[in-house]
Order: sequence, then C-alpha cells, then structure tokens
Amino acid sequence: MGKEIKKKEENEKVSLWSALKSNCYMLRISFQACPSRVIGSFVYRILQHLNGIYSSIIFWEILLGFVEKGASFSKVIPFLIFTVLLYFIIFIVFQYSNNILDPVGNQKLYEKLHVKMFEKATDSELECYENPDFYNKYMKAATQIKGRAFRVLVNISGLMISLIALVYLCYKTIQIDPVAVLFAVFPMISTYFIGKKINKLNYELYQMNIFADRKKEYVKRSIYQQDYAKELRLSNGFVLLITNFQDAVNTVIKNTKKYGFKVGLLSCFSEGLNQVFVTAGSIIYASVRLLYFKNLEISEYIVLINAITYISEILVADAACISKLQDNHMYIQNIREFFDYKPNISESQPGLSINTDDILLKMENVSFSYFGHAQEVLKDINISISKKEKIVLVGENGAGKTTLVKLLMRLYDPTKGKLTLNGNNIKEYSVKEYRNMFGTIFQDFRIFSLTVAENVLMRRMKKEDRKTVEMALKNSGVYEKVQTLPKGIETTLTKEFDSDGAVLSGGEYQKIAIARVFAKDCAIAILDEPSSALDPIAEYQMYKSMLKACENKAVVFISHRLSSAVLADRIYMLEHGRIIESGSHRELMKKNGKYAEMFRFQAGNYVKEEGA
Ligand code: ADP
Repeated sequence: MGKEIKKKEENEKVSLWSALKSNCYMLRISFQACPSRVIGSFVYRILQHLNGIYSSIIFWEILLGFVEKGASFSKVIPFLIFTVLLYFIIFIVFQYSNNILDPVGNQKLYEKLHVKMFEKATDSELECYENPDFYNKYMKAATQIKGRAFRVLVNISGLMISLIALVYLCYKTIQIDPVAVLFAVFPMISTYFIGKKINKLNYELYQMNIFADRKKEYVKRSIYQQDYAKELRLSNGFVLLITNFQDAVNTVIKNTKKYGFKVGLLSCFSEGLNQVFVTAGSIIYASVRLLYFKNLEISEYIVLINAITYISEILVADAACISKLQDNHMYIQNIREFFDYKPNISESQPGLSINTDDILLKMENVSFSYFGHAQEVLKDINISISKKEKIVLVGENGAGKTTLVKLLMRLYDPTKGKLTLNGNNIKEYSVKEYRNMFGTIFQDFRIFSLTVAENVLMRRMKKEDRKTVEMALKNSGVYEKVQTLPKGIETTLTKEFDSDGAVLSGGEYQKIAIARVFAKDCAIAILDEPSSALDPIAEYQMYKSMLKACENKAVVFISHRLSSAVLADRIYMLEHGRIIESGSHRELMKKNGKYAEMFRFQAGNYVKEEGA
C-alpha cells in the first residue's frame, strides 16, 4: 500500500499555484464562517513583525545614532520610555489576542465549519454512506477541517505579512551591503526542498494510518454508546473490539516509528545547515568588514547582522510555509471534494411544489440494487398509494420491504422504472417538500438525549405545540406513562446529560418514537415495523388507534404479524424482492395462496401460545 501511495504522490506534483488556489479556497470558507477570526489573525501578524523590526533594526539604529552623535543620557530617556511603553502595549495586545480573541474565534470557526460539514453530510443521499470512497472523504474532511482551517490561516497570514516585512529588511540590508543578502537566501532553498520531502512523508504517514484511525474511532464509538452496552457485557464482543483497537494502535505505532525516523533525520540536517550558514557566516563576514577592512560603522554592523538573521528567519519560515501550503493542498482537496460533491438527491434541490389535498403516489416497474451490489433487491414493483389509503407490506425478512419504503421516501432512486406523484416523476419535485410529505418511523428508530416533547416534535417545543405533543402521545398509548415522569413531557430521556433523565422500557421508547408520526402534519405516514417490542395484542391496538388517528392520511406500514395486516385496505406480499400477491385480507384468504398459508400458520401459533 505504501508503494502505491508513493507512486500516486510522485504523479501528483503539486504546483505552487494550485497550492495557493486551494489554500485561498480554505481561507475563503473560514472567512465566510468567521470573518473576525481571519482579520484578527492578519492583525496579529502585522503587530508581530512591527515588534520584530522595531527590536532588531529600528531600536538599534536610533540608540546607536544617539551614541554616535554623543547625545546626553537625558536625551535618550524619552526614547527608552517610549520603547518600554510600546513593548508593554504590544504585550497586552498579544495576551488579549492569545487568551480571549483567538480561543473565542476558534470556537466560532469550529462551530460554523462543522455545521457546514454536517449539513453537507446530511444532504448527501443515503447511498453515499454505503460508498467507501465517499465515507473516507467524509471522515478525512471531518478529522481535518478544523486543523487545516487554522493552519491555512497561520500559513497565509504569516506568508503575506512577512513578505511586506521582508521588502523593508532587504532594503535596509542592501543599503549597507547587497552581498550580505546571500547569507539569508541559501537556507531558504534548502528548507524549501527538505520541507517538501518532510510534508510528503507526513502525508504518506497520514494516508497509511487512516484505516487504522477509522478502526480506532469505530471501537471508541461502539464502546461508549449506550446502544451497544448490553451486547458488549453479555458476549465476547468487548474483548474482540479491544483486540481490534490494539491492532489498530500497533499499526499506527509501527508506521509512526518508520516515518518519524526519516522526518527527524531530514529536520536535523536542514536545521544544522541553517545555523552554520546564517549565524556563523554572517558574523564572520561582517566582522571582517568591521575589523579588517574597517569599512563598516558599528551601528551598520549591528543592523546588518540583525537584519540578515531576521531575513533568514522569515525566509526559512516562508519556505516552510510554502511547503506547508503544498502540504495543506493535499488535505484541502479532500475537504473540497467533499464540499463540492453534488448529491443526486439533495434537499436543497428546487422543484415543483406539492398539492397534498389529493395525492396518488405510484411505483411503476421499479427495480433497485444497492450501491456496489449487482443483485436486485427489488424487481419490477408496481404499487399505488392514494389519499387516505391504508397499505401494509408483508413478507419474510430480507424480502425488500424496508428498501421499498426507502425508495418511496426518495432516500434512494430506483435503478430501473420510476416513481410518480400525481402523474409527475418524483424527481421533478423539491426533495425537501417531497420528503416533508411523509411522517416516518423506522424499525431502527433512535431516541435522542432530549426531552420527550423534543423527541416527538424533532425540534424545540413552542408553547402552542403542547397540545399536539399530548395528542400524539395519547394516540401512541404512552401519555399516561409520560405523565408520571418528574417533568412530564419536558423530562429528558436517557441519563446521558441529565441525572434526572428518564430511562424507559423498549416498548415505551417505541411508542414515543411512533408519536412522531402522529405529531407531524403529513400526508403519508410510514411505519416500518416500529412495533417489534410490543406484544401482538398491543401491536394490534397500536395500529388500530393509529389508523383511526390517521383517518385523513395515507398509511403504509410493515408488519411481520399478519394479525395487524387485517386492518389494511390493501396488502402487498413480497418475496425475494417481488410482489407475489396483493389485495384485501378477504381477497387474499379467498385466493388461498402464500398469504393465507402464513396467516393460518401465525394464527395457529397464537392459539397455541394462549392455550399453553
Ligand atoms: P426487509 O425489510 O423485507 O427485511 P430489506 O429491504 O431490509 O428487507 O432488505 C432486502 C435485501 O437488501 C436484504 O437482502 C438485505 O441484505 C439487502 N440490503 C438492505 N440494506 C442494504 C444495504 N444498505 N446495502 C446492501 N444491501 C442491503
């Protein structure tokens, strides 16, 4: 893998121009996110260089000017007081910037960039999460965005302001001795080339570690999330995850050792070269002119050595900066590709608006296979859903029921065939408005560490929402339980952030999740087996009250218990991705096919259970 990366890297020689463009892209994103943080960074750099130029050049020029003119000490005192005051003010400004402005700005920048990234990630179609390429890009963007934004800020502001300082320092040096500038220039060249090599090695290391880092993150996430807590305690899963974690850490250590040694050697060589050439070289050269040829004033001697040292510091920093810009480029490309990704199904995509007074949603000859899988999970499906119609999808596990409802909600687009709403292809409608037409609850629903009301509304509760929440909880049959909680519908669920938070049973959580559908003013309610934690009678009751509460809505529900299917107007039975039977309960029983066989089998089981 290392060899592959190396090969790719060699082909990808980053030009300075492309590096500048991508760094400016990142700077623009940061500026849009938090202008004050970006401006603050430039102001800081200006002050830093003013401070440096004053201490190394201007101060000595003025002081030694007084000495050479034989000025009295009293004449020097105001200058010294001015210098002390200047240093004091700059010190205060730096402290304020380091301890207040920057940390606050960093948080704002962090927040804005991450919100932008979260929005992009949730706007991308579900398929993206099944595509390892996209997922890697997302992970890279997520782990790099904050660090890169700060680095770009430091590198670009550092480079731009130091170039201005450089012009002044070169002018001062050339005034005294143009040849001396060479002492400062050489280290820049060596630092630039060695820096480039170091960046390349660091990027290779980062690429080599990314899979191991993802594995580490996965284990961390699995262990501290409540969802996995039971499973991990009751199985060998914990040991298995820890072993995977240790393997991943060992891979990172091995790679780090290998690359750390090479990077260390190169750094030592580059630093050593600079020290010898600039410090020793410029002192010897200026001393020869001062003491042997006697063609240099003492003030010129001090200013020359300080200016060369300062120029070389700036050039070395700039050379490192330039190679860091190139280094940033490789990471920014990941972030840029992620942000520039145009999802096929985007919530921000405009389109026709929907009249929900009358709806007819159809699947016409729809087939579908998941990303990267040749096998079709749905084959030639034809279904129609009209306003107020109650539809149930039944079939064995893996038959394709969940996939079908995901397509209905346009979480995926079909690979063949089309979906139409009131005669138009659903792709013509605004995705946001189209999805908003549905109230959905999935089998693997999530309860968030928020209040009961927020979990039902999936947004902050306003005063006027109270009745809606109470009605939804009543319809899903959990209102009485919620009333017994210390703060009623304002009680936080789970104890993750609130020690007074409520921990409910699996069935109660399900009912709270189901209440989301009742609370949403939607045209089509979709329930994908959210009732698995309920017993058959409770499930039957829940669907009965749901159908009553959703009188004016179309309802599509999935249930593996056919006792609930009786309640629907139309039943679609799926097998291996095909609809094998459809009709009302009565019609299908009369047909005496697969549905009737399954129904009798399940009914027999319930009778046996009751008898037992
Ligand atoms: P059901 O809801 O009827 O149990 P699903 O729609 O969940 O069935 O699954 C149908 C088939 O699609 C199964 O074989 C399942 O393994 C496969 N499948 C489901 N989700 C994915 C996915 N994200 N990627 C690949 N295959 C999937």
